[in-house]
Amino acid sequence: MERTFVIIKPSAVNRQLIGEVISRFEKKGLKLAAMKMAQLSDAILHDHYNHLVDKPFFPRLKAAMQATPVILCCWEGVDCVNVVRAMCGVTNGRTADAGTIRGDLSMSMQENIVHSSDSLESAAVELKRFFIDTDYFSYERAVDKAIYANDEV
Ligand code: UDP
Ligand code: MG
Repeated sequence: MERTFVIIKPSAVNRQLIGEVISRFEKKGLKLAAMKMAQLSDAILHDHYNHLVDKPFFPRLKAAMQATPVILCCWEGVDCVNVVRAMCGVTNGRTADAGTIRGDLSMSMQENIVHSSDSLESAAVELKRFFIDTDYFSYERAVDKAIYANDEV
């Protein structure tokens, strides 16, 4: 089953939206495979946002990502990288579609509630960056048989 990586950012922690974000993924039918709370270091943020380190806004982005601890999650499901990315919406909360997490909960480009991996390849890299093997759980839920048709899984 495909896995993707999500960070519930300080903008969500500060606004008491941790439960709201988890609830959306859970209600969708995705399964939580790993979750922990962490205070992100300079080093891990430089790796995670490597494509942005040379941007003028990187110092304020880093400060924003370190403003509180964050919640790190691995969600599991069929096609879940694209499913989760679509549920998050585009980067800027002001232009993200209504119905998406950012579209419904954010008014900002930076303070946009959630990070999600943008491809299967980056999901694999990001999951390795933030989790170790023993962080993951494989388990059956009572609802699992109601989430997919037999031939979809
Ligand atoms: N970001 C920002 N200003 C920008 C572009 C990005 O503050 O002009 C922040 C924003 O929090 C975003 C993160 O940097 O979520 C990572 O940027 P990316 O382009 O990877 O967007 P995402 O994949 O999160 O939609
Ligand atoms: Mg990105």
